[in-house]
Amino acid sequence: MRRKTKVVKIGDVRIGGDAPVSIQSMTKTNTEDIAQTVRQIKRLEKVGCEIIRLGIPNLGSAEAIKEIKRRIDIPLVADIHFDYRLGVICLQNGADAVRLNPGNIYKIEQIREVVKEAKKRKVAIRVGVNSGSLKYQSPVKNKTKIKGIDTAKLMVQNALDYIKILEELDFCDIIISLKSSDVFTTIQAYRLMAKKCNYPFHLGVTATGFSEVGLIKSGIGIGTLLAEGIGDTIRVSLTESPEREVEVSKEILQSLGLRWFKPEIISCPTCSRCSIDLKRISREVQKRLKKLDKAYIHKKIAIMGCVVNGPGEAKEADIGVAGAAGQGIIFKKGKVVKRVKEEEIVKTLFKEMNRC
Ligand code: SF4
Repeated sequence: MRRKTKVVKIGDVRIGGDAPVSIQSMTKTNTEDIAQTVRQIKRLEKVGCEIIRLGIPNLGSAEAIKEIKRRIDIPLVADIHFDYRLGVICLQNGADAVRLNPGNIYKIEQIREVVKEAKKRKVAIRVGVNSGSLKYQSPVKNKTKIKGIDTAKLMVQNALDYIKILEELDFCDIIISLKSSDVFTTIQAYRLMAKKCNYPFHLGVTATGFSEVGLIKSGIGIGTLLAEGIGDTIRVSLTESPEREVEVSKEILQSLGLRWFKPEIISCPTCSRCSIDLKRISREVQKRLKKLDKAYIHKKIAIMGCVVNGPGEAKEADIGVAGAAGQGIIFKKGKVVKRVKEEEIVKTLFKEMNRC
């Protein structure tokens, strides 16, 4: 059961309600370098990024938004810290949403100015709380105040205080994020917040790092929440290319059956019972699937090394093979259709799949 939320739009992408969980990423270029930034966004559009966020550290970046917006096709979110005026300029220059950090833009008169522009243009504000920049943590005089208080609770309180200000300004196109580099804190914060409001959530575990570590932290944090029905748009934060972030986002969503982007291969880890060259066969199937058109994205293909678990898994899939003494038993929709020589397995799988 997905958490019931209000629907908020970023450009033409709906966030929340029954809208598909959307995929976001963030550019890693200097925003003032318009050509390079647009090139990166175009690459991201190609791999399936649906919303792009840009860091706006200075006036030049805020001014660059106008031209960048003109050259791209996906909605653009301006990421604002410290200086509310940059948010106002980005909105005037066509940003489809702004992210404000309650930890560093919290004066009511400043928030009011951003809200005024957002309302005029009917665009959303993301209340982007980050455990690394909590309002109550940064000033030294408040340090004793947070001693012993659970960080997740503090993050939620920061967000709630901010939402109250926005609502008092009669502004409700709000999206919330509560990110921490600690997976458990992130999960706790979103779970707590889910009980407090019905605004849609942008999910993410911040600064997860490189390769496996980043993938696992993001997968556990974002995946746990999505499995509980919490979350409406996601951003995976890796110390890698933004294209990689989009690929990982897709894997998370597809693993949970929330969206489909490509055919699914179920292949066994192999063991001493494996009686075919399973790695080679899996790699070959994967390579050939990449070349097939979108008509095949919902297919499930099982490649299993032997007849212990093989037939069971292969039967669950649209098409499958279980190895048996140098041969392959081909299954289709739960039924054995053929027994072929090992070298004919890949060819037969695709032939049979075309007939599915
Ligand atoms: S399917 Fe067979 S070969 Fe593959 S891991 Fe299981 S027992 Fe081993």
